[in-house]
Parts: sequence; C-alpha cells; structure tokens
Amino acid sequence: MMANLVEILELNDFVSGAGYDPTIGFESLYSRLHVADPQPLLVQEIENRVEDYFNRLILPRYPTIYDLLLLSLRGKDAIFTFNWDPFLADAYDRIAEQVPSTNMPNIFHLHGNVRVAFCEQCLMAMPKIETCPTCGAKLNPTRLLYPVEKKDYAEGPYMVSQWKDFREFIGRALIITIFGYSAPMTDQEAMTTLKAAWKDGESHKLIHRLEIIDIRDQNELARQWSSFSIFHHYDIRRSFHESLLARYPRRSCEALFQSNYDGKVVEPIAWAGNLEGMGNAIDELVAYEYPKKSEIEIGEIGDGP
Ligand SMILES: [Zn+2]
Repeated sequence: MMANLVEILELNDFVSGAGYDPTIGFESLYSRLHVADPQPLLVQEIENRVEDYFNRLILPRYPTIYDLLLLSLRGKDAIFTFNWDPFLADAYDRIAEQVPSTNMPNIFHLHGNVRVAFCEQCLMAMPKIETCPTCGAKLNPTRLLYPVEKKDYAEGPYMVSQWKDFREFIGRALIITIFGYSAPMTDQEAMTTLKAAWKDGESHKLIHRLEIIDIRDQNELARQWSSFSIFHHYDIRRSFHESLLARYPRRSCEALFQSNYDGKVVEPIAWAGNLEGMGNAIDELVAYEYPKKSEIEIGEIGDGP
C-alpha cells in the first residue's frame, strides 16, 4: 500500500531527520518534498529506495490474481496500471512461456515500471533489456512517475505513447473495470482524461458498463464513480471473482452483449479452480478465438468472434 511505503522502505529516521513527519503517508510526504524542492538529496534517496525495492519483488510460484487477470483478457483488450511493481509484467512473461498459444492483453504502465523499457526509435514499450530487438537501439528504462499533483503526462515519447493508447482504448471500450484503485487527489488529471475518453467515445452506449472492484463503502464508491457511468450502468464488485472478467473470462463483452442486448441467459464459465482445470478451460476458450496469436502482426489488435 502507498500509505505504508515509508515504513516498508525504512525511511522513518531518514525523513524525520530531515525535519518531515514520516506518519503522513508516502503520497503526501513525497508531494510536500517535491513542492519544497524537486531535486534535493532526500527525494533522490527516496526514489533510489523505491526503485530498488520494487525491482526486488517476485511473484510466488502459484497462480496469482495477476495471472487470472491476464488470462481473463485477450489481445484486443488492455490493462492500464499505475503500479510500479513488476507483478503484471512478470506474470505476463511466465504465461507467455507456459501457455504460448494464449493471445494476451496489452499492458500499459501509466506511471512507469521497474521492468519496462522504451525504444525511442520504434516508439514501443518492452521488457527491460539492453537493446531493442527490432532496431538494435539502446533502450531507456521508464522513469517512475511519483505522486505529485502536476505530473508530466506529456513529457517524453514514452508517456505520450502510453496516454495516447489509453485514450484510444477507453474511447472504444465496451467494459471498463476499475480494480482496487482509490483515485487519489494526485491523480486528478488521469481521472479527467478517463472520463472524457469514456463518455465521448464511440456510440452504442446503451450497454456500456463500468465495473468497480473495491472493498470500500458502497456510498463512498458511488460518490466517487457514478459520474463516470453511462446511463448509471455501473456495478460494484467486492472481489475480482465477482466481476464480469472472472465470470466470463475472455468473453466478457460477448456475455454482456448477449445478456443485455439480445436478452439471452448467459451461464458463467467455470475456470478459476485448480491449476489443471484452469489450464484446460483457458485452452478451450483460446481454441475458439480468432485470429490465432501466430496470425497477428505486431502492432495489430486481434479480434474474436
Ligand atoms: Zn527499436
């Protein structure tokens, strides 16, 4: 949690030694330090520790919610995350290795990520390695974007490309799932962009759906998100397993369309049980998807029946 990051990074003594209150939480602390002076030693030390800490995180061997999330989506879908941790990128890698036929969703790291680099020649984000496999240029690690009120979303080709794709995907999305995101005050600009892209997007808004997976109070969530919904079509889910993604993995849009537009009863797909059953269920779903992963050109977005 952002709130206890000061403690996790063992910054307490360091921060109080510099005359700041370490109990106000990481986001407030960083914002204040940044406003006072964007480049003091204290800010640099915090950034080094953040980078080092998140770099060292590793996934457990068993399938996690990150694996489920990735498997529940297809190549036409996208995940936009503000997380610096490497879990989605690492889960993506191991699924690509273990289930090579799976056509995986796009991932965009809107605040940078410790595992992601960017090729300024090809304008493509990719796993952090030395050189770009396409053009051979030296890759730049993505800069982590910190919780300050005025973020540099328009600075540099990496951020520009991530936010351009964000607006495009959101503009033509049928379902948006907001997963465990508190929408802090320091993300106001991101929220404004989300609302504009979603509400001004393509027509056919009758069945568009906003899903919020969050354990906070229902009224609080309604206050925060109802203005983002179209025709008040939003649902609050208490866990990922209640969401459309979990109930209709890789078929959430089809299920929503058939139930809300065609008026059909759509049975949920059982898949997220034991490992073996999960693999079989995903294989069966993937077998009916078109085009196959091997038939998709780089940069092209796959579509399914
Ligand atoms: Zn390149």
